[in-house]
Amino acid sequence: MLMQGKRGLIVGVANKWSIAWGITQKLAEQGAELCLTYQNERLSKNVRELAEGLNNPLLLPLDLTSDKQIVMTFERLKQEWGHLDFVVHAAAFAPRAALEGQFLATSREDFRLAHDISAYSLTALAQMAHPLMSEGGSILTLSYLGGQRVVPNYNVMGVAKAALEASVRYLAADLGPEGIRVNAVSAGPIKTLAASGISGFGSMMRHHRSRTPLRKDTDIFEVGDAALFLLSSMGRGVTGQVLYVDGGFSIMAE
Ligand code: NAD
Repeated sequence: MLMQGKRGLIVGVANKWSIAWGITQKLAEQGAELCLTYQNERLSKNVRELAEGLNNPLLLPLDLTSDKQIVMTFERLKQEWGHLDFVVHAAAFAPRAALEGQFLATSREDFRLAHDISAYSLTALAQMAHPLMSEGGSILTLSYLGGQRVVPNYNVMGVAKAALEASVRYLAADLGPEGIRVNAVSAGPIKTLAASGISGFGSMMRHHRSRTPLRKDTDIFEVGDAALFLLSSMGRGVTGQVLYVDGGFSIMAE
């Protein structure tokens, strides 16, 4: 029971295919007490249904573009729990039109929105979380190889992931002295709602499967296990890192 007595916030469950849901189940199995958020009323039904299989988690609305909702989420956590041990940030967004064709065509507004939701929001959560992490803590986000290399169609999301990974390093440096660790898991392609917005995602998955040393798809539970390592005391010496959970794809030359 690696997470017994630990309390944490998970942002990014949309449905049973969500990476955040794989992480949630692994943390719940190990005894964590959880707060799940849902982006809007439309997704709240899914999250409520999934939550029925958990041990009475807190469920709160949270749209990451709203400072007011971010503040309200942490006020509620302070009221309910008083302190926090971990945060999982597994949310990203870019308009569909920005996830096809050339990066060159990215509009100012699509660039802004992708970076606001997919990169800045990690810092916004860390700002609010760290006063509640008086006994130390662990913050985790999700990245993708497109933040390091050019992946066709990933475009502005790749640039936002690069900003996210750099944010992980700066936040890790700021929060390390408080005993708070900040890391990312860079996952291989997984068929989720967010992934369905990326043009040609099916061929990306086939390419991954045929080229990756482990010759298989990444799944949400192997990401969940890596998250468990980083969020529990097992990962206590690790901060500011991007851990690849991609079957080894990222080591290949092409
Ligand atoms: P998903 O669609 O299940 O999850 C994305 C989540 O982002 C959803 O829950 C959605 O509600 C949330 N979100 C989007 N805009 C939001 C906003 N304004 N406020 C609050 N929440 C918002 O897809 P996923 O693939 O599980 O994505 C989770 C994370 O994993 C993302 O950061 C994604 O970039 C990353 N990732 C995904 C893959 C993949 O292949 N699926 C690979 C590597 C990294």
